[in-house]
Amino acid sequence: MRESAATPSIRLTNLAKSFGSVRAVDGVTLDLSDGEFFSMLGPSGSGKTTVLRMIAGFEQPTSGRIELAGVDVTDQPPFARDVNTVFQDYALFPHMNVLENVEYGLRVKKVPKAERRRRAGEALESVRLGSHGDRRPGQLSGGQRQRVALARALVNRPKVLLLDEPLGALDLKLRREMQIELKQIQRDVGITFVFVTHDQEEALTLSDRIAVFNDGRIQQVADPRALYESPQSPFVAGFVGTSNLLTGAAALAVIGRDGTFSIRPEKIHVSSVPEGATTVEGTVREVVYLGSSNHYVVDLDAPPGEDGSRPSLTVQRQNLHHDDELGSRGERIRLAWLPEHVIELPDTDPQADPQADTAPAPPTEESA
Ligand code: ADP
Ligand code: MG
Repeated sequence: MRESAATPSIRLTNLAKSFGSVRAVDGVTLDLSDGEFFSMLGPSGSGKTTVLRMIAGFEQPTSGRIELAGVDVTDQPPFARDVNTVFQDYALFPHMNVLENVEYGLRVKKVPKAERRRRAGEALESVRLGSHGDRRPGQLSGGQRQRVALARALVNRPKVLLLDEPLGALDLKLRREMQIELKQIQRDVGITFVFVTHDQEEALTLSDRIAVFNDGRIQQVADPRALYESPQSPFVAGFVGTSNLLTGAAALAVIGRDGTFSIRPEKIHVSSVPEGATTVEGTVREVVYLGSSNHYVVDLDAPPGEDGSRPSLTVQRQNLHHDDELGSRGERIRLAWLPEHVIELPDTDPQADPQADTAPAPPTEESA
């Protein structure tokens, strides 16, 4: 039984969307709580944007239901929904200054001048651009422009903010700074953020919870730690972090059991063998220098895995020393890890019901 009966901020029930023969979203059911920073993470084409557009009302579902704060809005137009969207390609009006850009939406809604000035000022404060109101968009950096776009959405005081890869156009350094900013802004304003990204690190950094999408379906919903430490399918293990899968005969030889297993690269020791560790020998195939750490791809002395390829593991090692003693390709090394760091996975990813593509989903039953 659920401990809290609080009405979810967003409730999606069996949500589906087909474009012709493409089943873009294939039965998504999800509850988001009030004030949550929720991310939808998945590869390109997995249906994330389509889910977001259906929540906003820009796209009509083929089947299923959308509730906002307990109200069924499935058939409501976008303007009747208490949500706002921030896109990657935010277009600011170049001939208006920042404050005018932010208050524009309120002007359209005929909010009196004094009030809209005040609210636009507050929205700019909340994105830490309070002193930039009289600048033109062209006089701002990319990150500042993105924050103006955010302020323009926040000024409407929506219950829910939808963000579709809003940091996608920024370079990596700025992106990292904006991630921290965005998280702080979300805490300050306290509204529900639904954040779409294909970047696993970004999702882990920002989110209270993450839904991992593949092929229009949710593979797993969990908080960042649980998603990383306890992925529930090979797909999630591979998409969130480095998968390091061992299967078939390789699993039997290395882990001691048949099945599908994963060990995270940073959990593997190379120069020491902790008490109780499992060990395997291998040959360094590749060394990747990453600045603060190195990645080693190690071919294991073990029979081929299920797919017939030679089993290998990627090992991450911090660069603690200037001259790292572990080194070069072709070198023989021993890997060791503790049994509790072995993640056991089902052999295959959860699949769509093969009937689902041909038969329409049954109509949703109303409980009332
Ligand atoms: P994501 O945001 O995860 O990259 P999308 O939701 O944009 O994925 O797309 C999911 C699938 O739906 C893709 O196969 C995409 O090509 C298809 N799709 C999205 N929008 C349309 C559309 N308007 N018409 C036809 N196909 C679409
Ligand atoms: Mg998208």
